[in-house]
This record gives sequence, C-alpha cells and structure tokens, in this order.
Amino acid sequence: MSATAEERRQQLVELFEEVKRCEKCPLHETRTKPVFGAGNADADLMFVGEAPGAEEDRQGLPFVGRAGQLLNQMLEEIGLARDDVFIANVLKSRPPGNRDPLPLEIQACEPYLLEQVRLIEPRVVCTLGNFATKLLSGSHPAAALRTPAVKETLRADFATIPDLLQRPLPGPIPSSEELKEAEEEGGSTPPPPSDQLGFFG
Ligand code: SF4
Repeated sequence: MSATAEERRQQLVELFEEVKRCEKCPLHETRTKPVFGAGNADADLMFVGEAPGAEEDRQGLPFVGRAGQLLNQMLEEIGLARDDVFIANVLKSRPPGNRDPLPLEIQACEPYLLEQVRLIEPRVVCTLGNFATKLLSGSHPAAALRTPAVKETLRADFATIPDLLQRPLPGPIPSSEELKEAEEEGGSTPPPPSDQLGFFG
C-alpha cells in the first residue's frame, strides 16, 4: 500500500536532515546551503534539475532564479502551481562557479534523488538539465534554456503534461538498491518507471 502524504512528508524531512549533514563529496565544503528540493510530497509530477545555481545555493531552494520563473510560468499555463509539484536536483550542493557536475559527485549524490523519487512516487518525472536527463533517461535534449526559441518547444512539451498525468501508473518504483543491482548486472541504470520528459537541456 502506498504511504500517506503525511508519511511521505515525514520520510522526506528525515532524508533532508541526512542531506544537511552530508559530506559524501567535496561539494559540502564550498556550498552555502544544501538544496534538497521543495514542493508537494504527494505530487504526481516531479521536476529534476541538474544542480543548484548561485541563487539556489544562497536560499537553499531549487529553481528560484531565471529558470525558476520560466518554470512557474509554464506550470501556470497548464493550470498547475509550484505547490502541486515537487522540484529537486541531481546534486544537492552547488558545484563552484556553476561548473558541470563531476561523475564522482553524481555517483555520491544519486541515491538521495532515487530515494526522493521512491518516496514521492510521481506519475511523471520531467528532467530539467543535461545531467539530470542523462541520469534519469539516458537521452540528451539539445534545447537550451537561454535560447528564446526554446520557449515554444517547452510550451509544447508542457502541454503534454496534463495528458501524461491522467495515465495509469505503470508499476511500482524500484528502490535505489534494486536500481543499483540492475546497473551492476546490466551495465546501465534503468530509469524509474514513471513517464519522463526531458526539458531545458
Ligand atoms: S552534492 Fe550530494 S553527495 Fe555531495 S556533499 Fe552535497 S549532498 Fe552530499
């Protein structure tokens, strides 16, 4: 049986406490605040970005900069608000100077994201950056957030979300241990079974 919204919230708070103490990779030395993620613990829709930027690092919240404003606008256009979704990043601590995440950092932080997906059990996971997309779906969307033309593509992608949210759940979400085992056996990490969209590459 699925956990209640309150149970999910409590387990996420416990995971958040763990992330606050985390020293599994060197990024804990340079971060201002860890950015665990925010939103509805019982959300059907989850967004996953790459890593916190400067403003996120200062506030400890995901997608509060320019990308966050665009995300809010796109959500509003399909009748959703931030409170309806859960937003997280692959890395919970900011890479200095917004450099690309290193493979070792992704490896160290990945279990937190997989645990978030397992706890929240979203119907749809939308990835918001190249590394997040690579991690969760293995694909490489070419669109860039800073290209004005991409807004229309994003709008079209977001327009598909309400329909995806109506679809029946494809099956249980595997645990991070199960994903790790599958990775060791098959050589690549299988994505969670939720529907996935890759935006903001
Ligand atoms: S990026 Fe992740 S693994 Fe590295 S210190 Fe931050 S929370 Fe820990």
